[in-house]
Amino acid sequence: MAGDLAAFAQENGIKYFMISFTDLFGGQRAKLVPAAAIADMEEEGAGFAGFATWLDMTPAHPDLFAIPDASSVIQLPWKKDVAWVAADLFMEGKSVAQAPRNTLKRLMSEAAAEGMHVKTGVEAEFFLLTPDGNQISDASDTAEKPCYDQQAVMRRYDVIAEICDHMLELGWKPYQNDHEDANGQFEMNWEFDDALATADKHSFFKFMVKSVAEKHGLRATFMPKPFSHLTGNGCHCHISVWDESGKTNVFADPDMELGLSARGRTFLGGIMTHASALAAITNPTVNSYKRINAPRTTSGATWAPNTVTWTGNNRTHMVRVPGPGRFELRLPDGAANPYLLQAIIIAAGLNGVKAKADPGKRYDIDMYQEGHLVTDAPRLPLNLLDAMRDYDADSGLKATMGEEFSAAYLKLKRDEWNAFASHLTDWERQNTLDV
Ligand code: ADP
Ligand code: MG
Ligand code: MG
Ligand code: MG
Ligand code: MG
Repeated sequence: MAGDLAAFAQENGIKYFMISFTDLFGGQRAKLVPAAAIADMEEEGAGFAGFATWLDMTPAHPDLFAIPDASSVIQLPWKKDVAWVAADLFMEGKSVAQAPRNTLKRLMSEAAAEGMHVKTGVEAEFFLLTPDGNQISDASDTAEKPCYDQQAVMRRYDVIAEICDHMLELGWKPYQNDHEDANGQFEMNWEFDDALATADKHSFFKFMVKSVAEKHGLRATFMPKPFSHLTGNGCHCHISVWDESGKTNVFADPDMELGLSARGRTFLGGIMTHASALAAITNPTVNSYKRINAPRTTSGATWAPNTVTWTGNNRTHMVRVPGPGRFELRLPDGAANPYLLQAIIIAAGLNGVKAKADPGKRYDIDMYQEGHLVTDAPRLPLNLLDAMRDYDADSGLKATMGEEFSAAYLKLKRDEWNAFASHLTDWERQNTLDV
């Protein structure tokens, strides 16, 4: 409702609003708007030049307007004068088709039309590094198996507890924090929510972790694979679907295999069918492909998938069904755009439900040891170009995500791939100089 933010400012002593949106590459862009001007912005939106962001626009495009969604507003727990608010993008009065948050909202309403209310939780792993980004910030964090390391997590107590306190204050219901499987890596978990709320929280979480880390003289990164010998930053997503009331989990059926209902199975079938294509969104960077399909890390396992397989409570596959009524997609990484991550899951799942897709054979083996025994499941794409080609070839998924969105995304990502491919690496010199 227009006017809500002005009242919010009055009640909470807000001096500035960050009107924030996420572009196709996942970067968050904002304008700082004084509270005195927010009422107008709620009507008109804050103006941006679209070409200056990653949205596939030209310098000749008219103004892009970011209209804040008051229901997403968050007072920064570490800077109470300021509030962050997610915005939806419009141009000449029309919703911008390729904007990530708009894309997610459209898919949520398509799911709602099928009586499906998607709820998700994300596990956004990150590293705490030195400010130059080159090293793990804690020089003593060197254990071979550093997961859950009690001493190491306590050496970063000031940062982790500060972030968790903020989540408690925001009512996100955080429930655990730990040192993860790589040296310098952490994970913080909060309760699942509607897909749009999770995407907004996921965006804000990244902003908050980076901000608190900077305050402590550190640098946080969600980069998928910052160190080749260490486990990378995953961003697993747990998924369930509820009825219109939001009170009954329609993925739960105690009489079915692993407690996953018939509808849950077809949704999962969609994820399995479209997996190689959806990787272009869940694993959106050149670096993403150094996390999946990766050689064993120093801790003993990468914890990332390499093949399109699903299983019960076993962390070596792309999809794990940890308990009744939900499944975990372990493919996404820290570079995934929070909105597109949710959108692509809903798109693939929706296609699966409509096509009554079968998830295929369930494998309960240790994929890291016995993966070679699986001959009937596709390997995940080996690089971003292969993933983009798979996405481009998947006309069903492209159509559900939106043709305009898909064309814009593929165009910008192809440019990125070409920039990478034309970069001359040290490896090439070392291996080619003397041919
Ligand atoms: P793990 O590390 O075992 O994969 P975590 O506890 O780190 O699990 O994260 C689990 C995530 O899944 C949390 O965000 C949690 O709220 C979420 N979750 C739990 N139940 C459901 C459900 N029914 N639907 C969607 N998400 C769920
Ligand atoms: Mg200007
Ligand atoms: Mg976890
Ligand atoms: Mg983890
Ligand atoms: Mg997980």
